Amino acid sequence: MSDNNIELHKELKRLRNIELVLNESSIVVFTNQRGIIQHANDKFCELSQYSKEELIGSSHNIINSGYHSRDFFKEMWRTIGTGNIWRGEIKNKRKDGTYYWVNTIIVPFLDERGKPYQYVAIRHDITKLKEQEEVIKKMAYYDYLTFLPNRNWVNEWAKGQTRETLNNLTVLFLDLDSFKSINDKLGHYAGDNVLKDVAKRLKGCLDPEDFIVRQGGDEFIIFLTSVKNNKEAIVSIVERIKKQFTMPFYINNEQLFITVSIGISKSPEEAKFSTSLEVIEKAIVHADTAMYYAKKRYGNTHSFNTDEQNNQIDRYYNLVSELQNALSNNEFFIVYQPLIDLAKGKIIGVEALLRWKNEKLGFVSPMEFIPLLEELGLIYYVGNWVLQSVCKQMKEWQNKGILLERAAINVSPIQFNELNFVTDVKKTLEETRLEPQFLELEITEGTIMDINKSETTLSNLKDIGVGISIDDFGTGYSSLSYLKRLPINTLKIDKSFIDDLDSDGKLIVNTIITMGTNLNYKVLAEGIETADQLRYLKSQNCLEGQGYFFSKPVSPEEIEQYYYEHQK
Ligand code: C2E
Ligand code: MG
Ligand code: MG
Repeated sequence: MSDNNIELHKELKRLRNIELVLNESSIVVFTNQRGIIQHANDKFCELSQYSKEELIGSSHNIINSGYHSRDFFKEMWRTIGTGNIWRGEIKNKRKDGTYYWVNTIIVPFLDERGKPYQYVAIRHDITKLKEQEEVIKKMAYYDYLTFLPNRNWVNEWAKGQTRETLNNLTVLFLDLDSFKSINDKLGHYAGDNVLKDVAKRLKGCLDPEDFIVRQGGDEFIIFLTSVKNNKEAIVSIVERIKKQFTMPFYINNEQLFITVSIGISKSPEEAKFSTSLEVIEKAIVHADTAMYYAKKRYGNTHSFNTDEQNNQIDRYYNLVSELQNALSNNEFFIVYQPLIDLAKGKIIGVEALLRWKNEKLGFVSPMEFIPLLEELGLIYYVGNWVLQSVCKQMKEWQNKGILLERAAINVSPIQFNELNFVTDVKKTLEETRLEPQFLELEITEGTIMDINKSETTLSNLKDIGVGISIDDFGTGYSSLSYLKRLPINTLKIDKSFIDDLDSDGKLIVNTIITMGTNLNYKVLAEGIETADQLRYLKSQNCLEGQGYFFSKPVSPEEIEQYYYEHQK
C-alpha cells in the first residue's frame, strides 16, 4: 500500500469509528485545528440555543461554562493535538446562560505529516443523568431532615485539609438534653421539627468559615476554623449557641424549652496520626468525650476536653472489652474475709469477695468492675458463678471439718431482681448439697427500696432457708421500722461509721446496735481496723465484726489456717 493509501485507510477507519457512535441524538461539531467551528448539526444548535450562522466561524469557547479547570482542557488538547481520541464528560453553557452536560468524544483528522488539521466532536446530552447523580450525591452527603452536611461530607472535606487548618481546628460536639422525652411525649414529627429549628438556630451562630454537620439523632458537630484555638473566641461562640436555647421552641402551639450539652476539643497532636481524616476523627471523639462530661454535670453546660477525660474513657473501653471474656478466661477468683465473734475472737463465718486479675489491666477493684458488669448485663452470670463457687467451697470446708456458721455472698440489685434468682439459688444449693442455713445473701438498702417487689423475693428466699443481711447499713434511706416487715437476719454497720467512732459516729453506731439487737437481728460491724474500735464495739455489745484488724480477705487455704489458729 502506498503512503497515501495508508492515510486513506486510517481516515476511513476513523470515520467508521465515528459512525459507530453516531445516532439521531448525536451532537456533531467540526472544528479546525485552532478550535474554530466549521460545521454544526441541528442537534447542536437545538441544545446550545445558537443558530448555525452564529456558530460557524466562532471559537468553540463560545460554549465554555468555566466549570472545568485549565488543566482539564490542557490535558484534552494534549491528547487530541498528538492525534489521539479524547473522551470525557463536559459541562457546557447555553446561549441563555444555563448549563448542560455532554458525554464527548473528540476525534482528530490527521494530515500526511500526522498533524491534526480538523477535529470532530460527537456529544450526547447527559444533563438528566448528571442531575440524578447530583441528587444521589446530595442524599449521601447531606442529612435529609435538616439539609445540613453529614459525616460522609466531613470525611470528604477532611481529605482536602492542610496542616494549617487542622492545627487551627476546634470541634464542638452538641447533644440536646432529654430529646428522647420530646419524641416520646410529642411524637417523632414534633421531634423532627425541633431538630430542624435547632439546625437553623445553630447555623445562625456561626461565622462564614465555620460549619455545622448533623451527626445523627439529636447530635450536631460544629467545626470552627475562624477562632484559631483562641479560648475566648470559642467561649463567645458557645455563649452565642447557648443563648439560642434560651428562646422557646414552638411545637403544636406549645412552648418548649430545650437545653444542650457541648463538648469542646482542639485538634489533637496530629503528628501521631497519619492522615487528616484520622486527625479530624480523633478531634470528634475527644469533643464527644467532653460532651459526655458536660452531660454528667446534668447537661445545659459545656466542657473542654482534657487528657484526664480521655484516659478515663480509654480505661472504660479497655475494661469493657476485657470484662467481656473475663469469665470464660477464668480471670475471676474469690477471696474470703473472716467474720468474727467479737467476744470470743473466733471465726464464725466468711464473706466472699470477688477478685479480677487481667493480663493487660492487672488487678481491678470490684468497686470499679462490679458496676460495669451490671451495666454490661454480665452480673447475673458472674453472680451465679460466685454463688456456685462459694457453695462448693463451703461444702468442701465442711467435709474437712471446718465448721463455719455461714458464708456470705454479695448480691447485686440486678441479680436480686432477676426473675430466676430464687430458683437459681435453690438449684445451686441442691447441686452442691450445701444446706441453706449456711448461706447468707448480702443485699444493700437500695436493693429493697421497692418493698412490694422485694418482699416476695425475700420471703421466697426465707422459705428456702437462706439468710439475708443488709450490707453497708446506714448509708441508704431505709428506717429500721421499715425493715421490720422483712425477713432479715443480719445488719452490717457500714465501715464509714466505724471510721467515725472517734467523732460523731458513736451515736449512730450505738443506735443501730441497740435497735438492731432489740429487733432480733445479728449486728455486725464492718471495717474494724484498730483495737480501740474493737474495744468500743464490744463495750456496746456489738457481737460480730470483720475488718483488717482480724484479717484482710484471703485465699481459702489461708482461711483454713486462720480457722485452725483461732478456734482453740
Ligand atoms: P462490701 O460488701 O461492703 O465489702 C466490704 C469491703 O470492705 C471489701 O472491699 C473489703 O475488702 C473491704 N474491707 C473489709 N474490711 C476492711 C477494713 O478493715 N478496712 C478497709 N479499708 N476495707 C475493708 P472489696 O473486696 O474491695 O469489695 C468492695 C465491694 O464490692 C463490696 O463491698 C461489694 O459491694 C462489692 N463486691 C465484692 N464482691 C462482690 C460480688 O461477688 N458480687 C457483688 N455483687 N458485689 C461484690
Ligand atoms: Mg458485703
Ligand atoms: Mg459492706
